[in-house]
Amino acid sequence: MREKKVPVKKQPPSERIKNFNEVSLGYTEKEAIQEAERCLQCKNAPCIKGCPVEIEIPKFIKEIREGNFKKAFEIIYEKNTLPAISGRVCPQETQCEAFCTLSKKWEPVAIGRLERFVADWARKNNVYPSITKVEFKNYKVAVVGSGPAGLTCASELAKNGIKVTIFESLHLPGGVLTYGIPSFRLPKDIIFYEIEYIKKLGVEIKTDIIIGKTLSIDDLFGLGYKAIFIGSGAGLPSFMGIPGENLLRVYSANEFLTRINLMKSYKFPEYDTPISIGKKVAVIGGGNVAMDAARCSLRLGAENVTVLYRRTEKEMPARREEYENAIEEGVNFEFLVQPLEIKGDKNGYVNGIKIIRNKLGEPDESGRRKPVPIPGTETILEFDTVIVAIGQRPNPLIPRAYPKFKLGKHGNIIVDENGFTGIKGIYAGGDITTGAATVISAMGAGKRAARAIIEYLSSL
Ligand code: FAD
Ligand code: SF4
Repeated sequence: MREKKVPVKKQPPSERIKNFNEVSLGYTEKEAIQEAERCLQCKNAPCIKGCPVEIEIPKFIKEIREGNFKKAFEIIYEKNTLPAISGRVCPQETQCEAFCTLSKKWEPVAIGRLERFVADWARKNNVYPSITKVEFKNYKVAVVGSGPAGLTCASELAKNGIKVTIFESLHLPGGVLTYGIPSFRLPKDIIFYEIEYIKKLGVEIKTDIIIGKTLSIDDLFGLGYKAIFIGSGAGLPSFMGIPGENLLRVYSANEFLTRINLMKSYKFPEYDTPISIGKKVAVIGGGNVAMDAARCSLRLGAENVTVLYRRTEKEMPARREEYENAIEEGVNFEFLVQPLEIKGDKNGYVNGIKIIRNKLGEPDESGRRKPVPIPGTETILEFDTVIVAIGQRPNPLIPRAYPKFKLGKHGNIIVDENGFTGIKGIYAGGDITTGAATVISAMGAGKRAARAIIEYLSSL
């Protein structure tokens, strides 16, 4: 028995920092079978408990082992309509893989890589899951937002014979998958391929429509939608509230990544959105968003990119794999530092950050040890670009336009365990209810809400 996962081939760091192509090349058939052979086929399948969409993990791995990739795909697809996406970006290390029996002694089975392999195999071999037409009462449902929560809710409803229209404010569907996560981690053609299949289930996607502006919630009921699912995400960037955040070349990670991913600013002037970046870039934060912003900066030609994080490496919320990729690519890390002020030159451009050094104190409410500033350690670090990646909050547009929702302290819509908002016919899920979380938790919420909507429609 191999103690470690079968390694996956990647683009070499010196090559990949010059392009936006995918870093991980995925398993070959032989490698996937080898990795699948590590699975113990545990009777109690603890790995499934760690999967918010309850994929039958040992079953699909068994099919890979026997070379039945089509069957493996059908098993995954029954529970997950976005497998090539979740296989790439899910934090498996804290979900299914964290529960894997092997992880007690060795590395867990590489469940995410196997899921990705199967989804990629199906795409390359034009294998589509069969669609069984289900009859349901002639009701239609509106879904607001086309991120993973909205897409999953819509596809579950469509699979159950319900007509669904997704309303998306941007010109392309996918939510953060499309405008936030860079293509070197999640190529756009893969997102659009999986969305195309959701359209084949009968889901209609209307882009460039802002619910709360172009159409109100009441307009949607007026148009005959019997239920509404809100999956409008956490697109509101947080700032630090320190002097200098309005200087030129200070970006929120949200704006920075949207310009790159959605507007393709790295292809300016072929595409018409530019991005101005200097040579020495600071990225503030320690999550996936910070890693993405840092790695994009390198690919845009920055000579030196440093992530400034207020705690230590151990408390960093970024996926380990992406942190390691960032190091391999040459991103620097400064731990236990806290920005106090962004400094600028006479023309209003950033030229440095005043920071103070921290030490770790007692654990806070998140269970992580709190950063405590050390007096007298203030110093100025030289940078010409600053990207703030310290988190996003729930998108306030819909709650403001429809004040009947109960809101949490961060502006999140409060729902019960099935996504019900307490308002007849209105459900919500994903980052708009939890604050910034994960793709798979948004998908799980979309799925639970779809089940509750079906029950509600059945009672009408
Ligand atoms: P979103 O994906 O935000 O989608 C919401 C959609 O609603 C958007 O398309 C938005 O335009 C639309 N919308 C908003 N308001 C309206 C309106 N009024 N009318 C119509 N449409 C509207 N998670 C992981 O699991 N792994 C990762 O590696 C990872 N990396 C990330 C990297 C970045 C840069 C970011 C920002 C997030 C990352 N996440 C990651 C988090 C993950 O992407 C989110 O948790 C997830 O996308 C939330 O899904 P959602 O459907 O709730 O919302
Ligand atoms: Fe296989 Fe690990 Fe799941 Fe056991 S827990 S069935 S070894 S993937």
